[in-house]
Amino acid sequence: MAGGPRSRVPIVLGHEGAGVVEAVGAGVRTLAPGDHVVLTFDSCGLCDRCRAGSPSYCREFTVRNFSGGRPDGSSALSQGEQRIYGHYFGQSSFATYAIARENECDQGATGCAARSPWPVRLWGPKRAQAP
Ligand SMILES: [Zn+2]
Repeated sequence: MAGGPRSRVPIVLGHEGAGVVEAVGAGVRTLAPGDHVVLTFDSCGLCDRCRAGSPSYCREFTVRNFSGGRPDGSSALSQGEQRIYGHYFGQSSFATYAIARENECDQGATGCAARSPWPVRLWGPKRAQAP
């Protein structure tokens, strides 16, 4: 992470969020449009710590959550030709729309934003009702 965090601007922040899934990628198996989710941090799911059930200690935690981009250095965000840093906590949920990996979308009550006996749908924004 050359240059330190102050060199990564402009950036979209937002470390945890809640919302409704608008679309999913081809490889997504457990989510569908309309699902209510809570967003949490990113982890690789492959390292020894992730496989031991401790994704918050993932060996790639810093690069996946604080580098301002994807682990390969790219960013999903731009404005014209200008790069916009993001992927903060893996998803930058302060934006109107967030892009998150499947493992960051929690429908249960296991994410650190959802440690509650209440259903996740109660934490997300209320869906607009058709007139
Ligand atoms: Zn990991």
